[in-house]
Amino acid sequence: MAEAFAAVEIIAAKRDKGELTDPQIDWVIDAYTRGAVAEEQMSALLMAILLNGMNSREISRWTDAMIRSGERMEWSAVKRTTVDKHSTGGVGDKITLPLAPLVAACGGAVPQLSGRGLGHTGGTLDKLESIPGWRASLSNEEMLKVLQDCGAVICAAGAGLAPADKKLYALRDVTATVEAIPLIASSIMSKKIAEGTSALILDVKTGNGAFMSDPLKARELAQVMVELGERAGVKTRALITAMDVPLGLTAGNALEVRESVEVLAGGGPSDVVELTVLLAREMLDAGKIKPLMDPADALMNGAAMDHWRRMILAQGGDPDAALPVAKEKIVVNAESSGEIIEMNAMKVGVSAWRLGAGRSRQGEKVQAGAGIEIHAKPGQEIKAGQPLFTLHTDEAARFERALEVLDGAVRISSTGEKVERLPLILEKIER
Ligand code: URA
Repeated sequence: MAEAFAAVEIIAAKRDKGELTDPQIDWVIDAYTRGAVAEEQMSALLMAILLNGMNSREISRWTDAMIRSGERMEWSAVKRTTVDKHSTGGVGDKITLPLAPLVAACGGAVPQLSGRGLGHTGGTLDKLESIPGWRASLSNEEMLKVLQDCGAVICAAGAGLAPADKKLYALRDVTATVEAIPLIASSIMSKKIAEGTSALILDVKTGNGAFMSDPLKARELAQVMVELGERAGVKTRALITAMDVPLGLTAGNALEVRESVEVLAGGGPSDVVELTVLLAREMLDAGKIKPLMDPADALMNGAAMDHWRRMILAQGGDPDAALPVAKEKIVVNAESSGEIIEMNAMKVGVSAWRLGAGRSRQGEKVQAGAGIEIHAKPGQEIKAGQPLFTLHTDEAARFERALEVLDGAVRISSTGEKVERLPLILEKIER
């Protein structure tokens, strides 16, 4: 069968700063997904998009074409309103773990398709897989059953969901074309819209540990994603939140599960609790769900913990099993006394990654116990010789490179200098 377009003409149009037509976009995504557009041609087109951008019609059509490349899930059998959250990723961002069962406890249904970590940010599935027995891959029928029985399900997206994104994301990763707003927005939103949630809260991170370190770029990304969601009939809001300092006191898979369980037990670090409760309230509000109780109460009275335990058990996990612990650990002490002024999230994230908490190639195995415990955060006083970090790994040879990147990650001052921190929530964006 003759093809409707020649890829080279579409590449040339975008190279020359032209607009792609709807039929061109539909064709190029479909033809690439079925292998009729070569990888080198799609690489060139992605780079042209990164350099010359796309207008809102093009982004919306591109996203639709990605959704249509695969299946669209639907949850009409679920009696409750479906509502989900997506974070653009950060260091120590374990919020999904306490948030999904918390929203379930308050009356929502959370069908969350999550990913694995690549680079310095962790992945929700990698974290949950540190729980003995827990299984990320579910059939659509299993996913529905867990959602109906537990009010929340967190699992891997199946091969049938936005297959165009799977190919495009892998190609972007090796062609330096990840950082384009139209490509990030369409990638995230095609999956979230195909997932079939009726409301969505986007947690768009900004600061040195985020994809979008510039708050203006983070706002632009948030606006594009909110528009895409609303156009597709998903009630969508975005919060721009701080990722200049790691979230909570842990970065690494099992370490973050432990901290999430502390939050579900009514404790845990105040920034993790604050963001979890805030996002839960936003999700319930966006989904127009009358809360069975306030999220802050559901953390204190055991309701969220109860939903967590059911959700973990339903996917083969043992919520009472001991979490994996790394074989080796070393403590990093403060070199001077004073107040902690800065703690660079990116450096902490890269260090945890080098300890084995993350992967540098798709498909690589991560270490469940590897990562970093943080003993003091910006705003706290510390004395020279007191512990700042504990580094965990199964392979002692990894310490050297992990320590190297931590050099300069923390600034301590005894001159009364003010702490330089972004507010936890910078802005809320809705249509
Ligand atoms: N997450 C995604 O799913 N896609 C992107 O492009 C970036 C982050």
